[in-house]
This record gives sequence, structure tokens and C-alpha cells, in this order.
Amino acid sequence: MIITRFPPSPTWNFHIWWARTSFYNWLFAKQTGWKFILRIEDTDTERSTKVYEKNIIDSLEWLWMDYDAWPGKDDWTWPFHQMARLDIYAKYIDLLLKQWTAYYAWETAEELEDMRKSSYDQKKAFVYRQIDYTDEQIKQFKEEWRKPTVRFKVENKIVKWQDLVKWEINMDSSIIWDFVIMKSDGVPTYYIANVVDDDLMWITHIIRGEEHVNNTPKQILLYEAFGWKIPEFGHLPLMLNLDKSKMSKRDTKDQYVTVTKFKEEWFLKEAVLNFITLLGWHPSDDREFFTVDELIKNFSLDRITNSNAIYDFKRALWFNWEYIKNLSDEEFTARLLEYLKTYGDQEWQSIIEITEKEYWLKLSAYIKIRLQTLGQFRDYAKYFFKRQYPSEEILYNGKMWVNKELVKTILQDIIKVLDGFKYDWTEENIKNEIVKYISEKGLKNWQVLRPLRAILTGVQASPGAFEMLYVLGKKESLERLKIFAEWLN
Ligand code: GLU
Repeated sequence: MIITRFPPSPTWNFHIWWARTSFYNWLFAKQTGWKFILRIEDTDTERSTKVYEKNIIDSLEWLWMDYDAWPGKDDWTWPFHQMARLDIYAKYIDLLLKQWTAYYAWETAEELEDMRKSSYDQKKAFVYRQIDYTDEQIKQFKEEWRKPTVRFKVENKIVKWQDLVKWEINMDSSIIWDFVIMKSDGVPTYYIANVVDDDLMWITHIIRGEEHVNNTPKQILLYEAFGWKIPEFGHLPLMLNLDKSKMSKRDTKDQYVTVTKFKEEWFLKEAVLNFITLLGWHPSDDREFFTVDELIKNFSLDRITNSNAIYDFKRALWFNWEYIKNLSDEEFTARLLEYLKTYGDQEWQSIIEITEKEYWLKLSAYIKIRLQTLGQFRDYAKYFFKRQYPSEEILYNGKMWVNKELVKTILQDIIKVLDGFKYDWTEENIKNEIVKYISEKGLKNWQVLRPLRAILTGVQASPGAFEMLYVLGKKESLERLKIFAEWLN
């Protein structure tokens, strides 16, 4: 039986390293047909918000990660919020107080700071341990309306665990402070709420980021104090930027880190999942492409690397491009339409209404090899549906030797060639005729094809002239060329 969990604190939008952590947990649970539980750890009341929570839930859904109720719990309310379970933690904190493994601590923040300072002045590391106050002092604190915290009594020993990803980890608890398990406002801290829930929810494997390694000894001490079975721990390597710096939680133009951004650009989910899985997990061979089902079958914790994972957004784009290229025209069209309906402007909605499916299928083959994201189609490919003409810069292409007179002549000639076109309107035939014209005139290919393409599309990058002529069809192509020729005169 394997039960994993993903317990985010809703204090930020769902970012790519959460996507990886949750997906590894999901894969591992799915592999055995067991459970994957989502738990909202909202005890940091100052920073937790419902907006972030919604973002987390929407992102998991977008990435196809479904989650379960915990075993033995039929009447579950979903998802599990820690702030709705305060009475449960209070009961367990009480238990620790009764068995003297936890105690009330009365110092104010200033007093703690003073203690720390004076240790520092004596060149000693400060480790907080229980202070024995007299009854008189405690009475006094109460009179001052001080609210105590509850701290866990850390026993000095070596805490050990065999990490599923790393190696055996030993930590000396004598440097660990007696940590707070209940804040003075009565809300439990992450350390204990997390342990109580993991035990009550029968979590067998805790797979989480390396930033939690230092929390693990504290939590193991709590498991021991309760006499509970300690779950397996696996700490995933950090995710870093290309230059090995710490990753930001904010998206930039060149580096998306939130899943929302991937969604808004309509990355293919299967590409994102494939990409994030390889940020830390390596198959036994050098294979790069896996469907989700294949990942479920192949994923294993022992092939997670120990070294930090480098997050390269360009690689995410590359994966997505590979996946888009491999979609059938039908599938590509379906996804593209779904995307444009969701994120396209009013003009796109009208385009969708009046465009025949055949046209979408026809253009699919030409455009899908050129897109890194479907978002690029929305932003740059209206020319398939709409007449738009190039700026001088695009038309004459900077310093290249194509001037207005030449463009005029070429346009007139090409219009003639196309008007009198005797063959089937295929890309091949169009190409043959135009190439014939170019060589008769003693011109260079680019002198003709570049302006032609620019006039047909109005933009800097698009499929080439022959392809555009073919996709647009004879009538529309001629219209576009003629309008522009007239305008040039
Ligand atoms: N609430 C913690 C976080 O968001 C969970 C850590 C854990 O997996 O134990 O980082």
C-alpha cells in the first residue's frame, strides 16, 4: 500500500517545482493503484489566501492530477484544510504536554532575542532549551496577559533516516532548538500539523523538496514522541536557474515559472508533464519522450538524481514544439480551437464562427511545425484569415536589395502567372510555375519569394510563399496580391 500526498501552503501561485513534486507523488501512487492526497496547509494565516488555493487546485486539475480521499474516510470534505482541523491538532498537542514531551514557553520575542545575543557575545551557538520558571514567575506572566507558545522538547541524539532519494542522513539534534508546535494564538505550526495529518491520513511516502531536509529530524522526533510509524522520506533535488541561481517565483517574459502561465500559453499538458518529470528523474536509457501512461509505468524513485535540476524554459518550449509537431492535423485543430475559444479576442471568435473546418485542417500541416506554443498562433497567425499588409521594413527587408520598382514588376508578373494558372492548385505546381518565372527573369529566389510572402501575410515570420499561396487558395491569394499592387501604384 502506497499513499502519497501533496500538502501545499497556499502562499504562492502553483509553480513549476510544485508541479514536479506533486507529479512525482502522483506518479508513484498511480503506479501501485493507491492513493494521492491533496491537503491545504493553511496554518500560516497571514500569508495564506483563497486566491492562491484556487490557483493550486486549478493548476493540478489542468495538469490532470486527480486526488483521493484518505483511507477509511467516506464522509470526507474536500479538500482538507488544516484550519478546519484545529481541534484535532489541539488534542495531540495536549497529549505531548501531558507526557512532558512538550511544554509552555513564556518568553517574549524580545527576551528571546536577548538570549540569542548574549550567547552570541560569548561566541556560543544559541540553542533554545526549556527554562524552568518558578510558579511565582508563571503567575506573573499570566498577570501580564502573556500568551505562551508550546514547544517540543528536543532530546539530544543522532536522528537518522535512509532517504529514498539521497543517502542515509544523520543529524545531530543537539543543535535543534526546542521548536514551537503551537503559536501563542493557539494555531499549530507546520511541523506538528503536518505530522499529525500524515499519520492520520496513513501517508506511507513523503516525497518533497530538499528545502525540507532540515524539518525532517524535527518531524521524526515528533513521530517518535507519539509512538507512530515513521513514513519513508525522499527529498527531491532543488530546481535552479540555468546560471545555478535560485529560481524566482515570478514569471518573466523568457522564463515561465507558474503553471498558470503555461496554461495561458496553452502548452500541451503532456509536454509539460514529460518535461517536468525529466527535471530530476532519468530513465535507464536516454529516452526523452514519454506519454503519461508510460511515465506511470517507468517512473521510479531510485532513478531520481541527487544533483540539482536545472530549469531551462527554452527546453520546455522545445518539448512543446516536439509535441505540437507530432499531433495529427485533427488533434491540432481541436486543441487550437479550444485554445482560441478560451483565450482569443473578439476577432478570433468571429474567425472561428465563419471558418470551415477544412480550412483549419489544411493550414494545420503548415503551421504546427512552426509553433512552440499555441499562444504564438493567437498572436501572430491572423494572416490566415485576414488581409493585412507589411510595413516597408518587412517588405523590403532591411538592407537587402529589393526596391519598390522591383516589387511592383514582380507583383504584376506573378499576378499574371497565377491568373493564367492552368494546373491543379497544389504546392508543387505553384512552386514549379513561380520558379520557372524567376529563372526566366534572371532573378534570385529571395528577391521574389520574400516580398511575395510578406505581401500575403503582412508579418515577419510565417510559412513560405508557396505554402501560403497554396493554403490561401487561388482566389484569396490573387485578391491579396492585387489589392497590394494597386496600393503600390
Ligand atoms: N506545506 C509545506 C509546503 O508547502 C509542505 C511541506 C511537506 O511536503 O511536508 O512547503
